[in-house]
Amino acid sequence: MLNRRQILAALGTTALASLAPSALFAAAAIKPDDTSALLVIDVQNCFLPGGSLAVKEGEQVVPVINKIAKGFANVVMTQDWHTPGHVSFASVHAGKKPFETIDLPYGKQVLWPDHCVQGTDGASLSKDLSIPQAELIIRKGFHKDVDSYSAFLEADGKTTTGLAAYLKSRKIKRLFVAGLATDFCVAWTALDARKAGFEVYVVEDACRGIDNQGSLAKAWADMAKAGVKRIQSSDIAVSA
Ligand SMILES: [Zn+2]
Repeated sequence: MLNRRQILAALGTTALASLAPSALFAAAAIKPDDTSALLVIDVQNCFLPGGSLAVKEGEQVVPVINKIAKGFANVVMTQDWHTPGHVSFASVHAGKKPFETIDLPYGKQVLWPDHCVQGTDGASLSKDLSIPQAELIIRKGFHKDVDSYSAFLEADGKTTTGLAAYLKSRKIKRLFVAGLATDFCVAWTALDARKAGFEVYVVEDACRGIDNQGSLAKAWADMAKAGVKRIQSSDIAVSA
């Protein structure tokens, strides 16, 4: 399916001018159906202003996500959910600082400030999210020695969270991904979703990135290569 920008590019501005705006909108908008689900990634206090791993402008995703969520019958949310002393915390590695990397048995690991410790206020979903119809909250990163950016697979690349099987048993085929942070948990989720065979859209203005050493540009490039579609919230038809 073409997104609106691709259609605009294909039509060119001359042809576009002859189209009624309503006709164009109807042709271009992506309408979520029963086989579509919105994945809301890690919109938790630790990643919001004032949190221990605050993503710049992270709070700006909340109203956008609340708005597009109205267009979805199926919504799944995720929660980063670490043990105290989790392996991804810089504080447990002597001499290491946040945003440095270390080599772990499963590969390179970025080290973070302590965040999203199980049961703490920082790990709670934002109270400003308004998605009462959300069906599932999946927690990830709860194994002390393995991180999990992705909602599908832990960072060892093989331990599954069960999400792909859940979505497939619910006959979901198209996934729309939003939340925090674009270049880590959103991107890894989108990439694993492609590997699991889903059609995947990342809603750019419903995400914000951390951008550690070029990670944001790399994440978009990796997602494009994997066939992830990059869209804006305005591309999604919200009303019935
Ligand atoms: Zn984490």
